[in-house]
Amino acid sequence: MNICTCIVIIKKSCIFAPSNLNKQPSYYIIRSMKEITASDFEQEVLNGAKVLLDFYSTECPPCEALAPKLEALAGLYGDKITFLKIFRQGNRELATQLGVSSSPTLLFFDNGQPILDTISGGIRKAEIVERLDQMLTPGEVEEIRSRIEPVSSEYDVAILGGGPAGLTAGIYLGQAKIKTVLIDPALPGGYMGITHQISNYPGFGQPQDGYMLAHFMSEQARHSGIDFKVAVDVSSVDLVKKEIVIDRTETIRAKKIIIGTGTSPNTMNAPGEKEYKGKGISYCATCDAKYYADKEVMVVGGGNSAVEEALFITRFARKVTMVHQFDALTANQTAIDRLKANEKISVLYSHEPRKFEKRGDKMVATLENLKTGTWVEWESDGVFVFIGFKANTAVLGTVLPELDEWGYIKTDEDRKTSLSDVYAIGDIISKKYRQITTSVADGTIAAMTISKEI
Ligand SMILES: Cc1cc2nc3c(=O)[nH]c(=O)nc-3n(C[C@H](O)[C@H](O)[C@H](O)COP(=O)(O)OP(=O)(O)OC[C@H]3O[C@@H](n4cnc5c(N)ncnc54)[C@H](O)[C@@H]3O)c2cc1C
Repeated sequence: MNICTCIVIIKKSCIFAPSNLNKQPSYYIIRSMKEITASDFEQEVLNGAKVLLDFYSTECPPCEALAPKLEALAGLYGDKITFLKIFRQGNRELATQLGVSSSPTLLFFDNGQPILDTISGGIRKAEIVERLDQMLTPGEVEEIRSRIEPVSSEYDVAILGGGPAGLTAGIYLGQAKIKTVLIDPALPGGYMGITHQISNYPGFGQPQDGYMLAHFMSEQARHSGIDFKVAVDVSSVDLVKKEIVIDRTETIRAKKIIIGTGTSPNTMNAPGEKEYKGKGISYCATCDAKYYADKEVMVVGGGNSAVEEALFITRFARKVTMVHQFDALTANQTAIDRLKANEKISVLYSHEPRKFEKRGDKMVATLENLKTGTWVEWESDGVFVFIGFKANTAVLGTVLPELDEWGYIKTDEDRKTSLSDVYAIGDIISKKYRQITTSVADGTIAAMTISKEI
């Protein structure tokens, strides 16, 4: 389900429309995405000219984050390139024929022929723009660029990241009437939005769907009066000048910056992993597990996330094999007990993937037995990877605050970093426990500190 569809005329009230699009000349007709089904494929794509085709799913946070980016780009490029979307769950046969096995996936066609690399997963607007520009002549690209006017805005506080940490800081700052903007390349919610059930957030007797908790928190932040710039590309960040550029055209200046950009899943760096990402290797069970109904799946990892996600995948898959590097799981005992009670899951201890290949429809992982040094091939219908996280600091420019030995940002008890007027909150900071509650606490502390300073 797309949360916001800005069609035909761009509305100022639509939170996802980049503000520079509001400056288009009045005669410029804004095009929008068109929904098709498999039966329209021949006419719309094979007999079409230049086409971008988006395979999306429901209950897919990256699909929801992509939708407003595509709507905005359809507004810019739509008179030269046709923007189509197709519901993957309802058109599975076509998706399989086209090699689509992850949501969202973007395909590009010219005169019925597939062109350029497909892209899937958490897609940045810049990646799409790069491909769209390749489909046009330099003159056409220049003409499109001339329609965009750079804009700038000033805030007291800019929050980078709309997870529970950033949203909580936003709620407190908004209620304190401090002019605040929250910036996120995805939709607000962070990991909450992709966690199927959360049972330890206080205030609820029953486990809550993560996306609902994300929705309630972001609505509360929105109602507190802060501005949202979400589903945007964060093009550059200068923590010293306190300047953030989004979508390469909008400059945001703030007196103070709060960093709440969280973490990203680690990758294995095994040959084939990059190649088959989105084509058999996934990092999001909420997005892709439903496509493995009655299939066999491999889950790499053995910590809490891996066990929780493996349990979720068994709602769909017939069999789940967990591959873990140690000879015991590192998840907590409650999670391990639930795993042991689930007959669909087995664990291959002391093994690590060394290579991934695709043979027909099957993913073949070559695993090393870390005790004997022998290698074995393991066939499955798909692989999910949950092997820990790294701090998202790479996006924060060249001058970073002081980090700990694992790359997490050091803060004092007020969540101040070593850089003046720069705060850090949530999973990205150096601390022992990374949970929604601890992130919410960090957001509160930073916002209350700032409220006293401004
Ligand atoms: C699978 C899984 C299950 C979990 N289950 C639970 C649970 O049951 N209970 C619990 O308490 N905790 C759980 N956690 C942990 C919890 O989700 C995290 O501790 C919490 O979400 C961290 O919040 P955060 O705001 O720091 O970061 P995140 O939730 O990671 O949010 C960070 C945000 O920053 C954005 N961002 C990234 N780069 C940039 C950038 N350059 N500029 C701006 N924004 C950026 C991201 O898009 C994201 O929205 C789980 C985590 C995972 C992965």
